[in-house]
Amino acid sequence: MLTVSEARERILSRFQATAKETLALIECANRVLAADIVAPHDLPLFNNSSMDGFAIRADDSAEADASSVTLSVVADIPAGSAPNVTLAKGQAARIMTGAQIPEGADAVIPVEDTDFSSQAAGTLAPKTVSFTKHIKPGDNVRSRGIDLHEGDIVLHKGRRLKPQDMGLLAMLGIANVEVHKKPRVALFSSGDELIDVDAPLTAGKIHDSNSYVMKALLQNAGVDVMALGVAKDNRESVDALLQKTVNEELDLIISSAGVSVGAFDFVKEAIESQGRLDFWRVHMRPGKPLAFGEYQGKPFIGLPGNPVSAFVGFEVFVRPVLEKLSGQLDGSRHTVKVRCAELIESDGRESYLRATIREENGIQIAELTGHQGSGNLLSLVQAGALLIIPAGVKCVPVGQEVDAILL
Ligand code: AMP
Ligand code: MG
Repeated sequence: MLTVSEARERILSRFQATAKETLALIECANRVLAADIVAPHDLPLFNNSSMDGFAIRADDSAEADASSVTLSVVADIPAGSAPNVTLAKGQAARIMTGAQIPEGADAVIPVEDTDFSSQAAGTLAPKTVSFTKHIKPGDNVRSRGIDLHEGDIVLHKGRRLKPQDMGLLAMLGIANVEVHKKPRVALFSSGDELIDVDAPLTAGKIHDSNSYVMKALLQNAGVDVMALGVAKDNRESVDALLQKTVNEELDLIISSAGVSVGAFDFVKEAIESQGRLDFWRVHMRPGKPLAFGEYQGKPFIGLPGNPVSAFVGFEVFVRPVLEKLSGQLDGSRHTVKVRCAELIESDGRESYLRATIREENGIQIAELTGHQGSGNLLSLVQAGALLIIPAGVKCVPVGQEVDAILL
């Protein structure tokens, strides 16, 4: 049986990043950059005030510690205007936050530190302004280029765009962005016991929960989902669902259940009839029945049916595939070292256990969230992390360090 990393390598080698496309910035949230972003200009682009106040020559405030200094106010500079004055000695200009600093000025005294106390909207600038505070050159000024310079690489290829990245691109006037196409994934569940969430439960039936978990995972990973519904436990039903993928542009087909050794597990067989299976088991827990192959030339991953196993299979195998397809180079999940608060027994397979993580005196402590049955979705709902117990380990003593994937 393949180890987890062997299986993952085999799967990943089958995929490459989707094609590039250029989209309007507004369409690019959560997309992955297909090229580095180079700043077309400095940020900020002009020296501007970080406060509402008065632009002054810092020299003019030299006496201000000892006594009050009074300057004549020769201009009023709201945000968005281009100042048309050059301040001479003894002069000031009223200025608003974000407005361009006029020639001659090199600092701003905040309005709160002057005798001009009227801050109501619409107030006209005073004729003079007085203050008793010493101001240094550069005080309350955001200088051109202090954030970044023209030509700097501001975001690297392979980065999934966060909301704050969108703002930076907008600040730089980058209206169109080269990104990777959204991967498109077909999804189905299988099992005679499964019924819709809005149908009443009858004897022996359960609601299909995997479809909901998988669809949410895929959508959060920036994927277009083709939801195929639920296949019954017979060849005709599985074949009929799989047939729907044939004329579709898809990067991957994923299913849950029906890939084990049960008498009604028809998914493997249906895949092999029009494609092939590279493997259908991995040496791990939960999630041993995990199939990989292709159907009519389209890559296929068959996840286990048990809800926790399906989730773990997604995290361990599907997520890396989606990241590779998306062109994403920065992983979406992070692994940290944690210490186990209890003794953990394992069967020697690479195991993924549900745990909460808390910090105690700077140490991350992991505690299991109840019984670790692969049908116990609550244990996953309550978990903040998956502990990875490596292959070959049968016992993890209290206090031992293990890796944990943060969820
Ligand atoms: P199987 O892989 O078909 O043997 O299914 C393993 C277990 O997972 C069984 O208890 C199934 O009832 C359960 N299961 C399969 N598919 C789903 C699903 N879509 N939602 C919830 N549980 C499921
Ligand atoms: Mg089944």
